[in-house]
Amino acid sequence: MTLKNDSLDPSAVLPTEIPAGLDRRKFIIRSAVIGAAAVMTGCARSESEQKGPPPAAEAPGASASAPPLSADLDVVKKGVGPVMTTVDEFYKVGPGPSSSHTIGPMRITYDFYQRAEKLPADKLARATKLQVNLFGSLSATGEGHGTHRAALAGLVGKEPATVDPKFLDAMKVNKDQVYPVKLGAKTIDVSLKDIIYDATKGDFKHPNQMTVKLLAGNEVLLEQEYYSVGGGFIEWKGYTPPKKNAPKYPFRLMKELRAHADGNKTTIAKIMLANETSITGKSEAEVYAFIDKIINAMVATVKSGLAMPEDDVLPGPIKLHSKAATVYKRAMDDKYQSDRGIGALSAFAIAASEENGRGHLVITAPTGGSAGVMPAIVYGLLEERKVDRQKVRDGMLAAAAVGYLCKHHATLSAAEGGCQAEIGVASSMAAALAATAYDADSKIVENAAESALEHHLGMTCDPVAGYVQVPCIERCAFGAVKAWTAYAIASNEIASRHRVDFDATVAALAQTAKDMNSKYKETSEAGLALSVVLC
Ligand code: SF4
Repeated sequence: MTLKNDSLDPSAVLPTEIPAGLDRRKFIIRSAVIGAAAVMTGCARSESEQKGPPPAAEAPGASASAPPLSADLDVVKKGVGPVMTTVDEFYKVGPGPSSSHTIGPMRITYDFYQRAEKLPADKLARATKLQVNLFGSLSATGEGHGTHRAALAGLVGKEPATVDPKFLDAMKVNKDQVYPVKLGAKTIDVSLKDIIYDATKGDFKHPNQMTVKLLAGNEVLLEQEYYSVGGGFIEWKGYTPPKKNAPKYPFRLMKELRAHADGNKTTIAKIMLANETSITGKSEAEVYAFIDKIINAMVATVKSGLAMPEDDVLPGPIKLHSKAATVYKRAMDDKYQSDRGIGALSAFAIAASEENGRGHLVITAPTGGSAGVMPAIVYGLLEERKVDRQKVRDGMLAAAAVGYLCKHHATLSAAEGGCQAEIGVASSMAAALAATAYDADSKIVENAAESALEHHLGMTCDPVAGYVQVPCIERCAFGAVKAWTAYAIASNEIASRHRVDFDATVAALAQTAKDMNSKYKETSEAGLALSVVLC
């Protein structure tokens, strides 16, 4: 077999002969996986490796994976160019419990509300009704995620970052409440009845799909098909991404990002800061001011979670008792100092995640379901260890780089990739944050992020009763502890001997997401969602 020189061409690294013992279909699939990993890592396997033993036979009837995403979604297309995501797109403040099922739908209906407002007055004068149809995973698990309330709140003109959580809490109590929506001179009444749980299965462009309509009787005055593509990001039919300037240090892989940092004798955080300013045109002070807002919101969410009474019960049918305060108090009484640390870190993560479960304001880092992981590390560093704030800011930038790369090459959406895409990515980000805050060099930052992600690969999403509580809240604690463990290993091992690079693990994340049975992708149709019986 010969290898071509273009490292971005998958065919350059694919074997051409079918090895003995492997049928053609399996050979093609295996070659595609090898090719994807090789393209991302720039590493070709030897001929003997490629001709190695065939993979284990597929179990009969296995893996009804979800249909592929539509190729014209921007989230699919942009994996080929340099990373262009910025912190103000990535870290979003909004109501829990889910970035894709709560914040995304709320951003969608708020976007539609803003579009509708701009319609000509004569059109608006004829409007009689606003209607939202939820499809796919949004329909299957929307009830437990508060998707209908979030969608209604956006339609009423409430913005996720500034909505008073009490407004959403009141919606839970007054289910028949009618809200007036002012569009020009016209007022249209809307209620939860206008948010329709539609087909859960179908030929969707994205599993989190919805349509919003403004009607005049049966006539459609304005209609838009939207997709909540993960982490609170949204797209719509015909979406074109906003124009941005070129990054100063273009990269599409961790190894390229590290090459910029090492080649310029600086840190990943400083490279990310330079890219933020070049892409957005903002000053460094403006970027840091935004990061400070996010850091402060993370600290606030942990504090308010810890302050909740120990007998508080989270909303929903699970009747789950809050336990952040109890875990924290008891951890502080532990006779072993190391156990106190693990207990406290877990309590911080549980506190922020319980706030998410309450539908209170959380920060996507990268999602609502994983909203306890990064805040736990931020809180631990700033409030407990009194680490210098600038180091935590740098950590937030390095963590963002990790999140961007996972979004760029894999997914942040549990509906696409299961829980590895949420808690796994959050843990990886948090490991990079901790390593950066302690001045680790770029290789250690990469190794820590890689290790945390590696040990979440394959983790499925199976929220009990569709509520982001079980396993999600404790899962945030484990994500935070694993992040710290990953940093501890990375900073204590000989960094150059770390065998797995981050880009290879992101390739594995993408492939695992693709192969995962759709039942384990935020549908609440399998796993714990099936085996836990509520009484
Ligand atoms: S199981 Fe994981 S991915 Fe699924 S809702 Fe919970 S935290 Fe999110």
